[in-house]
Amino acid sequence: MSRSVLVTGGNRGIGLAVARAFAQAGDKVSLTYRTGEPPRAATDLGCLAVTCDVTDSAQVERAFNEVEAAHGPVEVLVANAGITRDRLLLRMAEKDFTDVMDTNVTGVFRVVKRAAEEMVDARRGRIVLISSAVGLLGAAGQANYAASKASLVGFARSVARELGTRGVTCNVVAPGMVDTDMTKVLDGKQRAAVLGKVPLGRGAEPAEVAAAVRYLASEDAAYITGAVLPVDGGWGMGH
Ligand code: NDP
Repeated sequence: MSRSVLVTGGNRGIGLAVARAFAQAGDKVSLTYRTGEPPRAATDLGCLAVTCDVTDSAQVERAFNEVEAAHGPVEVLVANAGITRDRLLLRMAEKDFTDVMDTNVTGVFRVVKRAAEEMVDARRGRIVLISSAVGLLGAAGQANYAASKASLVGFARSVARELGTRGVTCNVVAPGMVDTDMTKVLDGKQRAAVLGKVPLGRGAEPAEVAAAVRYLASEDAAYITGAVLPVDGGWGMGH
């Protein structure tokens, strides 16, 4: 059965890999991008590209309206959009903290709330939030990011409790080091330091994260909600 799937931040990195995985499985996929022309990859994959900055509620509303008009209500939401503003705590400006929280936490709240309205009416739906292994392990220089990603766990578990009887599941995927633009900024030494703690000894391909997301959105995962699924090569050992 082809479902209406929406991936935030689906124009590159992990989000694009997630969009690709659902599109290749035959779902009707919409992905968000922020500026410029619709991403070429969206057209190639047959995805609907909608503009949306998740820090802006009006843009979130417009994006959902566009998706609903084209594909029907969102049945699978993947809240993937996220940013980093890495600084050591003593050098971290308040704005570094609040910007990260606004995108990574309040942005997730905005899209999950909007999607849940329709899912509750339909009495079914799948919500997957992209957190991070760092949310549970912590990382020097990432107090803002780790706080934002840890908070998604409490958020997801609360949503899971609220919406379970309406047939809606809400789960978290917690990737470790994934090879995307976000981790390109790390130098060789920083990379080696992380990978030295990863039993599998390598970073993940975005497609490996996408596979976990697809699983949690599949019929096989119908009885899984409020779970955190690490995709981290054993870095956090299940947390
Ligand atoms: P990228 O930096 O490659 O991509 C981030 C995506 O989020 C882009 O599509 C970006 O859009 C979008 N985005 C950022 N801010 C906003 C916003 N305000 N509104 C809408 N979209 C926004 O990162 P990754 O693909 O690596 O990361 C994807 C998710 O996975 C993030 O939540 C990240 O925290 C998480 N993650 C990543 C890990 C990694 O090692 N890479 C590890 C663990 C978790 P635009 O192109 O417009 O900037």
